[in-house]
Amino acid sequence: MGRPNEYAGDMRWGWECPRCDADVSVARDPGSETFHWVCPTEDCPSIGFGFASRRRARLALREYREAYQNIYR
Ligand SMILES: [Zn+2]
Repeated sequence: MGRPNEYAGDMRWGWECPRCDADVSVARDPGSETFHWVCPTEDCPSIGFGFASRRRARLALREYREAYQNIYR
């Protein structure tokens, strides 16, 4: 957290669930015009929503992963 580098346009870091490493997809909600990502694993609670752009969703997913790993340690 707090690192100045934001590789938002960089495809090197992917879309993996912080908890179970499943592939996570980002989708657009046509009703609210926001983006969300959700883990496809049934019993995994990872989810993020309400992002203004796909880029923000990706940043949030990465932050989620970092935060989760900090807790997990
Ligand atoms: Zn998951």
